[in-house]
Amino acid sequence: MTIYSFKCHRCNTVNCNKFYRCVHCRNLSCKKCLDETNPNRLKYKVMKNDKHGIEQTIYCTKHCSKIHTFCNDCGGEYSNLRECSNCLVHYCSECHERNMGSLEEMMMPGDREFNLQVKEMSTFYCSKSCFRVHYFNGGEELNVCHNCGEIFVDLYGHGDCRKCLEQSKTDLDVKYNFNRTIYQNEITKLLEEEKITLEEIEELKNKYMKFEIENNEFVDDNKLTFKKWIKNISSGSSSSFMMFDKCIIKILEEKGVKLPDKESQKFKKLSPSFENGTNEVC
Ligand SMILES: [Zn+2]
Ligand SMILES: [Zn+2]
Ligand SMILES: [Zn+2]
Ligand SMILES: [Zn+2]
Ligand SMILES: [Zn+2]
Repeated sequence: MTIYSFKCHRCNTVNCNKFYRCVHCRNLSCKKCLDETNPNRLKYKVMKNDKHGIEQTIYCTKHCSKIHTFCNDCGGEYSNLRECSNCLVHYCSECHERNMGSLEEMMMPGDREFNLQVKEMSTFYCSKSCFRVHYFNGGEELNVCHNCGEIFVDLYGHGDCRKCLEQSKTDLDVKYNFNRTIYQNEITKLLEEEKITLEEIEELKNKYMKFEIENNEFVDDNKLTFKKWIKNISSGSSSSFMMFDKCIIKILEEKGVKLPDKESQKFKKLSPSFENGTNEVC
């Protein structure tokens, strides 16, 4: 006899009153995890229960069906981004080409077939450093996940299993999305109070972005505009957005808005989406 109990994919809790099932990847989640990873979700019931009586949902604790439209590196908006198999970022073909550079050192002179394979494999990675990890590390080595203790094939020598990697990426995205609402709110206030103009923001942003670009070896441009950044609610820990955040923080500081420490309750309360601390990611 097999005893099977429902378990939340994210926190492994088994004794929940209610579970939800993602219609895309079929993973189960408890309500707490669903709320924490999808703070803006619509809470009314949209979909029918499945045959086990579990409510089905389009929301997922690992954002499995999230559509990525901004390149991690350059911030360009595209509909055909690829996900890096190693670091899970989404990248455009232009950034891929630049960050992959020459593959000569991995090629075998004269072996056309092998070289084609190398080229093809490289398209699954955002940059040469990520591809290298696969190329030189890619074995079938078993490892115990540092985080959850599961035994898994550690293709990339991460030490954490795929599930834990995806989970920590989602948690990070939620955190950055939440923090971004604070920067968006503060700069909107300055605009409304006429303490800054859009032109001034643009000018200062360009000044600070230059510094950000110089300090990031993977980028040579940031195509994001203030209009796109201010409306965005889901780009999370994407580098291009984080670079833009940093510029806005500096502009706020220049205008005398000193934000409290990011980990403090005082900071979290500045967000328009703050609700009794429930937006905290555990
Ligand atoms: Zn859970
Ligand atoms: Zn899912
Ligand atoms: Zn790009
Ligand atoms: Zn990568
Ligand atoms: Zn794990």
